[in-house]
Amino acid sequence: MNKDGFLIVISGFSGAGKGTVVKRLVEEYGYSLSISATTRAPREGEEDGREYYFKTVAEFQNLIDYNGFIEWAQYVDNYYGTPRKFVEQEMKEGRDVILEIEVQGAMNVKKQYPNALLIFITAPDAKSLKDRLAGRGTESEEIINKRMKRAAQESEDIDAYDYIAINDDIEECVKTVHSIIVSNKCLRDNNLEFIDNIKGELKAL
Ligand code: 5GP
Repeated sequence: MNKDGFLIVISGFSGAGKGTVVKRLVEEYGYSLSISATTRAPREGEEDGREYYFKTVAEFQNLIDYNGFIEWAQYVDNYYGTPRKFVEQEMKEGRDVILEIEVQGAMNVKKQYPNALLIFITAPDAKSLKDRLAGRGTESEEIINKRMKRAAQESEDIDAYDYIAINDDIEECVKTVHSIIVSNKCLRDNNLEFIDNIKGELKAL
C-alpha cells in the first residue's frame, strides 16, 4: 500500500471562496496546508508565515535560483510559489497536503506529480464572483478588473482538472471536496500490489 501522503491541488477563480473552503478542510479534517511565498503586499489582518511568506522580488528570485519551489507563477502583478521542502517532507511522512494555487501552477504540479488530485472551485456564476471580490473590499477597482480578466483566461484550462466543485453553499462544498479526496485516496491505494499482498496473506493463513 502506498503510504506517502496525497497531494491535493485546489484552484478557483478569485472570489470563488476557495480560501474559506480550504481553511475549513484543514480545520475539520486535518489536512496539511502548504503556505506559499508571495511578493504581494500583506492584506490587512494577514500575517507573515500564516497566510503567506511575504517576500521581496529579490528574495523570491533567490528561492527560484536555489530550486526552493515546486512551482511558481506570476498572477496579476505578483509572484507566488510553493516551497518545496515542506510539501516533500509532509508527503514523505504520510500527510495529505493541500496546495491552494492558481491554474498555471496546478498544471506544473500535475506534470511533476501525476498522482496529484486537481480540484477547481467556482462560484455558481460570474456575477457572484465579481460581487464577492468587490464585497471583500481588499482590492482596488483596477485589481478587481485584472483578476476578472485572469479568471476568463483561467476558465480555458478548467478541463485539465479532475473535478469541479461549485461553491454555492459553503457546508456542501467542503463536504463535497472532502468526499472527492477520500474516494480518490481509496482509488489510488487499492492498487494491484496491495491486492497481491492480501492474496498472499490469505493463502498463508
Ligand atoms: P491572492 O493574492 O488572492 O492571495 O492569491 C492570488 C492567486 O494566487 C490565487 O489564485 C491563489 O490560489 C494563487 N496562489 C497562491 N499561492 C500560490 C502558489 O504558491 N503558486 C501559485 N501558482 N499560485 C498561488
